[in-house]
Amino acid sequence: MALQQKLLWQPDVSDDTVHHGGREMSSKAAVTPMMAQYLEIKAEYPDALLFYRMGDFYELFFDDAVAAAAALDIALTKRGKHLGEDIAMCGVPVHAAEGYLLTLIRKGFRVAVGEQLESPEEAKKRGYKAVVKRGVVRLVTPGTLTEDTLLEARRNNFLCAYALVRDEGALAWADVSTGELRVSPCPRVKLGPELARLAPAEVLLSETTYGELEPVVSEIGAAATEMVRGAFDSDQAAQLGKRIFGVASLDVFAPFTRAETGALGALLNYLELTQKGKLPLLRPPVRELQRGTVEIDAATRRNLELTRSLSGEKSGTLLSVIDRSVTACGARLLERRLSAPSRDLDVIRQRQDETGTLFDHGMLRKDLRTALRDYPDLDRALSRLALERGGPRDLGMIGRAIAAAERVAGLLQGALADYAPALTALGDLATLLDDALVAEPPLLARDGGFVATGYSEELDELRKLRDEGRGVVASMQATYAELAGVTTLKIKHNNVLGYFIETTATHAEKMLGAPLSETFIHRQTTANAVRFTTVELSKLETKILSAGADATAIELGVFGELRNKILAQAEALGALSDAMAAIDVAASQADLAARSGWSRPELTEGREFEIEGGRHPVVEAALDASGEPFVANDCHLGETRMWLITGPNMAGKSTFLRQNALIAVLAQMGGFVPARRAKLGLVSQVFSRVGASDDLARGRSTFMVEMVETAAILNQADDRALVILDEIGRGTSTYDGLSIAWASLEHLHDVNGCRALFATHYHEMTALSAKLDHVDNATVAVKEHEGEVIFLHEVRQGAADRSYGVQVAKLAGLPTRVIDRARVVLEALEKGEREGGGTRTALIDDLPLFAASPAPAPVAALETSDVEEKLAQIHPDELTAKEALDLIYELKSLLGRGH
Ligand code: ATP
Repeated sequence: MALQQKLLWQPDVSDDTVHHGGREMSSKAAVTPMMAQYLEIKAEYPDALLFYRMGDFYELFFDDAVAAAAALDIALTKRGKHLGEDIAMCGVPVHAAEGYLLTLIRKGFRVAVGEQLESPEEAKKRGYKAVVKRGVVRLVTPGTLTEDTLLEARRNNFLCAYALVRDEGALAWADVSTGELRVSPCPRVKLGPELARLAPAEVLLSETTYGELEPVVSEIGAAATEMVRGAFDSDQAAQLGKRIFGVASLDVFAPFTRAETGALGALLNYLELTQKGKLPLLRPPVRELQRGTVEIDAATRRNLELTRSLSGEKSGTLLSVIDRSVTACGARLLERRLSAPSRDLDVIRQRQDETGTLFDHGMLRKDLRTALRDYPDLDRALSRLALERGGPRDLGMIGRAIAAAERVAGLLQGALADYAPALTALGDLATLLDDALVAEPPLLARDGGFVATGYSEELDELRKLRDEGRGVVASMQATYAELAGVTTLKIKHNNVLGYFIETTATHAEKMLGAPLSETFIHRQTTANAVRFTTVELSKLETKILSAGADATAIELGVFGELRNKILAQAEALGALSDAMAAIDVAASQADLAARSGWSRPELTEGREFEIEGGRHPVVEAALDASGEPFVANDCHLGETRMWLITGPNMAGKSTFLRQNALIAVLAQMGGFVPARRAKLGLVSQVFSRVGASDDLARGRSTFMVEMVETAAILNQADDRALVILDEIGRGTSTYDGLSIAWASLEHLHDVNGCRALFATHYHEMTALSAKLDHVDNATVAVKEHEGEVIFLHEVRQGAADRSYGVQVAKLAGLPTRVIDRARVVLEALEKGEREGGGTRTALIDDLPLFAASPAPAPVAALETSDVEEKLAQIHPDELTAKEALDLIYELKSLLGRGH
C-alpha cells in the first residue's frame, strides 16, 4: 500500500505550546501531570501514533485513539476529560502488541513506542505525585522492522534513501533485519527501475525532491518519507559514518561520490532517529555498480512476473517455481539474484560451477540439503541482539547456526571449497554457547532459566539454595499441621503475600489464641480462610527470594557477556551466513535442474541467442498440474536479430516470448535454464511489453500506457538489449496500430540494433522480413480440422497464413449466429482486399443486413431410438443377473451389431 506521509525530521516543540490532532493549546492550562507528559511526548511525533505505556497496556489518546481503533477494529472508550472535553482512548495489551503494530504498519501508519523508563516505586521516591518517566524508545516504520512476526522470513525488507546532488543521483539501501547495507549511483531516470528491483518497504526523500519523486515511490507500493535537506548533507553523513563504523572516513570502504555519501547519511540518520540511538548492526557499506547487473525496468518486472505476479503475490511467479531453497537466508539471496541478474561472466560462471558441482553429485546435494534445513535465521537473530531486542532464544539460534555450518563444512569435502573457511571459523563461540545455554532457551531473558547447569558455580549454588528452600517450605507444612492440630492446614504462595499458611475459618480460632498465636502471626482474613505466617517462614522466604533474585542477576550478566561475545564476531557471523546462503542457492538450483531436466547454459561475449527445446517454467508447472504436456520450442537469434511472430490468439505467442526472456534472466543470474541447450551472448537490458494492458488504477488510457512504455524501450534499448514486444499497437485503430508497430520494428532494427522478439496480429508486417536484413518470420503452428482450430504450440519458421480469429471466437462460445455472420463479413473483406476494390465501408455497405442472415434453426425434437425406448422401460432393481445379461444381448441386436 502506498503511504504518503510528510515527515520532516525536526522535532518542533516550542516551550509552552503543544500540539495534538491539529489542536493547539497551552500546556499551562489545568491538565493532569500524566496528560501533560503525554502531550509533550506526542508533540515530538505528530506524524506517528503514540503507543503510551501504562502498566500492561499501550494506550492511545485523542485522534490517535480514534484512528487506531478504526484501523484495528478495537473498542474506542473515554478516559476522563481534558480541558472540558472527553479524552478518546483505546489500548492494546503489551503481550499482543506486535500483531497490532503489524496491522497499523500495513495500513500505512508509523508508531512511536513510548515506554516507562522507571518503575512506579522509583517515581514515588521522587515525590508523592510524580509521574513515571516515559520516553519513546523506538519509532516503528515499514522500513525499519526487526521482529520476526512482522517480517517475511524469505524476503528482504529494504529501507532506501535517494539523494540528488545537482544531476548526480545515488541510492542507498539497508535491510535492518539482516544488516546488509549498499549504495549505488542512480541517475534520476533509473530510480523507478532500481526501486522496482529492490522492492523496498520505505524510501527516504529529501524535502527538495519529495514533490517530484514521491509518485515514483508510490508507484512501486512503498512508503515515502520526507526528510529535511540537512539529513542528506554529505559532510554530516561522513561524521555519522565515522561514528557508526569507527573509521576515519567512509572512503575506506569505497570512493563514494557526494550523492552516495548523502544517501548513506540520510539512511544512517533515519536509523538513529527511529531506533533512538540503538543502531542496528550494519555491515560496512558495499558500493554496487549498475553496470554489473542487467537492467530490468518496473513494467518488465511486472510483465515477466519475476518475483511478484501481476496480482502482487508470490505464487505464479518465476521465483515461486525456482525457489527450492531450504534456509531463509538462501531464499533471500535467490530473490536478490533473480532481481539483479549479473552481466559479469566471471560471476555467472562461478555460480554455474557451484550449481554444476552439486548437480553432478546427487548424494552430496541431498546430504547438504538435509544439513542446511537445520540452519536457523542467523542474520535476524544477530540483528535483534544488536538492537537489544534479542533474548536467550536468539543466543541459542546463533549456536545452532554455527553448529549447522560446521556440519555442512564437514560434508563439502573439497567441493565448493571457497566457502569452507567461513563455515568453520567460529567453533569456539559455538562451544561457549553450547556450554552456557540450556537445550531450549526461553524467549525472554527477564525470568532467567536459560543458563545451563555447570556453567557457573555461583549460579548453581544460588539455584540450589532457592530450590532447597522451596523443598523446606513444603516440609514445613506437615510440621505446622501437627503443631496446630489442623490436618487441613496448607502452605501456599501468591504474589501479594508471598508464602503463607492457610486454614479454614473454623480452625482459625485456636490459632489466633495463645499459645499458638506465639508461633502463628495473623496476616489476612478472607471470606472462607484465615492466613498466617511465622518468623521461620518469613526468613526462609527472604532467603529463597534473594537467592532467586541473585540467580536471575547472574543469568542476566551471562546473557550480556554472551551477547557481547557474539557481537564481537558479527563480521565472521555475517560471512558464515553469506556462505550458507550461497551453498543453499547452489544446492537448490541443482536440485531444481536435476528434477526438471534443466541444463547449464553457455554464456558468451557474443550476440547469439540460441535456445533449443526451451520451455516456460511457470506455464509448464501449471500444465503439469493438469497433466498436459508443454511443447518445447527453439529460438535462434544471431545474425538474424529479430523474429516477427504471427499466429492466432491462444496459440502460445506470449508464452514463447516470455519464456525466452525468462531463460535469459535465469542464465545471467547464474542458474540453469529450462531448455535442452542454450548458448546466449550476454544481455545488458531486458524489456518486455504487452500491448494495451489495462491501467485504470493510474487513470491513463490503455493506449497511452502502451505508447509510454514503447517509447521507453525505443529510447533506452542498447545493442545488447533483449526486447520482447507482444502485440504492440493493439490498443488503437487497425491502421494506426499497424503503422506504429511497423515503425517501431524498423526503429529497433535500424537504430537500437538489439535482439528482439516481436509478436503481432498484423499479418501485413510479415512482408518486412524481405526488406530488413535481420528479421525473420516465425509462427506458432495450428491445425484446422473441420472448421475448428487445434493449437499445436509449435513455433516454426514462416508467417501465419491467417489469424483464425473467428475460429477462436467460436471456441470461446460466441453465439453461432455471430460466428456465421463474422465469416460472411470476413469473406467480404478478404475478397475486397484481394480484388483491390472499394473502401472497407463501401464493402460493408454491400453486405446483406444482419437481420437477413438466417436465424439458427430451432433444435429439432430428438428422435428416440429403439435402444433408448427399450432402456426407458427397464427397472434395473427388478432384474436378475441372468435377465440383465439377456437384456444386453437384446440391446446389441437392436443396434444391429449382434455379437
Ligand atoms: P493471445 O494472443 O490471445 O494472448 P497467445 O498466442 O499469446 O494468445 P498464450 O497466452 O501464450 O497465447 O498461450 C495460451 C495458452 O496456451 C497458455 O495459457 C497455455 O496453456 C497454452 N500454451 C502456450 N504455449 C504452450 C506450449 N508451448 N505448450 C503447451 N501449451 C502451451
